[in-house]
Amino acid sequence: MTDPHFAFPTPHVIVVGGGIAGLVTARELADGGVRVTLFEASDRLGGKVGPHTVGGIQLDAGAESFATRGGTVAALATELGLAESIVAPAAGGAWLQPRSGEPLPLPRTGLLGIPAVPLARDVIDIVGLPGALRAQLDALMSGFVGSRERNLGALVRKRMGRAVLDRLVVPVAGAIHSAHPDDLDVDVVAPRLRAALLSEGSLAKAVLTLRAAAPAGSAVQGIRGGMFRLASALAEDLDGRVSLVLGARVVGVDDSGVTLEDGSRHPSDRVVVAAELNEPTGAPITLATLVVEAAALDTAPRGTGILVAAGTPGVRARALTHASAKWAWLAERAASAHVLRLSYEAAPDADDDLRELARRDAERLLGTAIPDDHVLAFDRQRWRGPSVSRLQQERGAAAGVSEVGERVSGAGLAAVIAHAKRESGNLLQDLRAEAGLGLNES
Ligand SMILES: Cc1cc2nc3c(=O)[nH]c(=O)nc-3n(C[C@H](O)[C@H](O)[C@H](O)COP(=O)(O)OP(=O)(O)OC[C@H]3O[C@@H](n4cnc5c(N)ncnc54)[C@H](O)[C@@H]3O)c2cc1C
Repeated sequence: MTDPHFAFPTPHVIVVGGGIAGLVTARELADGGVRVTLFEASDRLGGKVGPHTVGGIQLDAGAESFATRGGTVAALATELGLAESIVAPAAGGAWLQPRSGEPLPLPRTGLLGIPAVPLARDVIDIVGLPGALRAQLDALMSGFVGSRERNLGALVRKRMGRAVLDRLVVPVAGAIHSAHPDDLDVDVVAPRLRAALLSEGSLAKAVLTLRAAAPAGSAVQGIRGGMFRLASALAEDLDGRVSLVLGARVVGVDDSGVTLEDGSRHPSDRVVVAAELNEPTGAPITLATLVVEAAALDTAPRGTGILVAAGTPGVRARALTHASAKWAWLAERAASAHVLRLSYEAAPDADDDLRELARRDAERLLGTAIPDDHVLAFDRQRWRGPSVSRLQQERGAAAGVSEVGERVSGAGLAAVIAHAKRESGNLLQDLRAEAGLGLNES
């Protein structure tokens, strides 16, 4: 087979894994004129972006929003015909349950919990005055301090001190990346933050600059009807252009192709791995979804949801999203009921126990009684966070094998999609260069 993009027979690339990273990669490569085969181990595409039905309402079983940073996800959704469905969350904002005391609204301006204005009232309320004063020292330090620090925890500790790290960055970054800031690479989770620190001279100003560079309005958006529509639209877009093979678990990868669990061998010119092939080591994440009747929740007492500081006595959930308060389309579908999503790192095995734990945690976090007979429906989803959130450059892939996906890009759709696009662009360039080289040689 030949293609106008390539003077030689069309190169064939195998993509391993049909989550968002694999689907975006397959699309970019197919658009670039490459023949693509995608192997997906499960019986559906989308990975952590997919639907489940709870109490008759179709909901997101995994990701439910995306960061507007860079405009990457909205651009993809627009290309796939979903522009009209992009929606902003309700303006209520999120709250934080500190280790002790009452829940508080999260500071209005921040990035991964790093405050843009350390002495703002809402920051002082959470970190205390001494903590805020220590954070303000950031403004007096040279921009060089911490600018070579790739470890998010160490960077924040150096510039703003322990209180900001422990009380803001640990819960916020932990909720987004399922990892402690000490295990997060700044360049992966907050690209350009270190450069902005150097150019602006302080971490707080760097946060402000990055926030200002994001599209106006909310830092996150969603898709009316559910984020899973993005995965469905991608799958539909690829149908007929890419060979999509479901129920195909890849067990071996090298520079000349892949081996499936059934022993079959599939040769290709290149392989892109968009899946976890080794034993997963990422933190377990359990999502408990409750559909409840509770009129007191009509006023959204904790805005769009609440993050929980690790070690808060009497609460096992790490975060609660009041999904029907966050998304207007969902409030409409849920009618008089409310949809609550609680995430857990460690959750009981029995569904009844998890349902009861989630109900009690919801009562405590929302400050509202939710009697057992007001729980209309419950569901559990089990996931794992990315295996490697540590430094990207520690990884080394074999020649001819590229890697995309949250293990290398960091978790979150904005990061995953931007990275998959970049890697596909690099791969296309390589393949074109090779084709050109071949031509010259002949
Ligand atoms: C509960 C939860 C909520 C989240 N909420 C948000 C959110 O609101 N906003 C946001 O931006 N991000 C969110 N995320 C993170 C986001 O969903 C992920 O970062 C992103 O979807 C990861 O995409 P991926 O393609 O890298 O991996 P995955 O989605 O994990 O896809 C990997 C795919 O590879 C397949 N696979 C695995 N092994 C093999 C094999 N051996 N052979 C073939 N196929 C294989 C898997 O079945 C899967 O389909 C959330 C994650 C979770 C778990």
